Amino acid sequence: IQSDPNRLRQILLNLLGNAIKFTETGSIGISVDLVHGNVLRFAISDTGIGIGAESIRHLFQPFTQGDSSTTRRFGGSGLGLAISQRLAEMLGGNIQVESQPGIGSTFTLQIPVGVRTANKSTDPALTSGSTTHGLQGMRILLVEDDQDIRRIVRKYLERAGTRVDELTNGQEALERLSGSDSYDCVLMDIQMPVMDGRTAVRELRKRGYDGHIVAMTAHALSSEVASILDAGFQAYLAKPIDKGRLYQIIAEAARGSNSQG
Ligand code: ADP
Repeated sequence: IQSDPNRLRQILLNLLGNAIKFTETGSIGISVDLVHGNVLRFAISDTGIGIGAESIRHLFQPFTQGDSSTTRRFGGSGLGLAISQRLAEMLGGNIQVESQPGIGSTFTLQIPVGVRTANKSTDPALTSGSTTHGLQGMRILLVEDDQDIRRIVRKYLERAGTRVDELTNGQEALERLSGSDSYDCVLMDIQMPVMDGRTAVRELRKRGYDGHIVAMTAHALSSEVASILDAGFQAYLAKPIDKGRLYQIIAEAARGSNSQG
């Protein structure tokens, strides 16, 4: 798989460190699996002190700690989870938590990853993430109802040498992608008239479409990101669109797609 080993390592160390720190008896566990073909999902679970509903709400905010008695007992800065969540978002993913006081906690880290295939991983043109290099000639479908955003994204994409088709809602995308046209990457807005992005992607996945689809959304909250990945998107791009991140995500699409034209 293709990801950022340093960021990934730091997130896992934070989550595992917490699991160990807050579990005096019992066990901790870590599992990893691949969902939707290229989302890596880590679950770090423990049988420790757990977290109350009130604390969970603020858990990922900086300097948040369970309560003052926890701090006295366990120490810490209250920064670990805020940083981990931020790192997960930089990788295009997120962290979620389920917990019951006195029973234990499970932190789930989901990150989209480019799954390397034998022949593509050796192609040097595809290994440069943040430059425009390697995107030339790629076909991109841009599905977005806002004309201004379409114009900006098209400008970025054309500058990188890609060929861009534009559509304005999910229904049009569904029709286009069910036909014979093929794209290296689809960039899809979430909120659109006629048919929203989530519905379109769910329907496409149901019909067996396995191409790379990236959500474009202004609501990069962790709960939102999770539901985006759940709907069948491989990744998300936060609005306003960052050019470097856009190129990176399309380069990832090139690495991830093994059967796409
Ligand atoms: P800290 O440096 O204080 O551990 P974190 O941001 O890593 O900061 O965690 C914030 C708070 O979340 C902790 O103080 C603790 O109350 C709670 N917490 C984090 N992980 C766990 C866990 N595995 N079990 C119980 N509580 C946890």
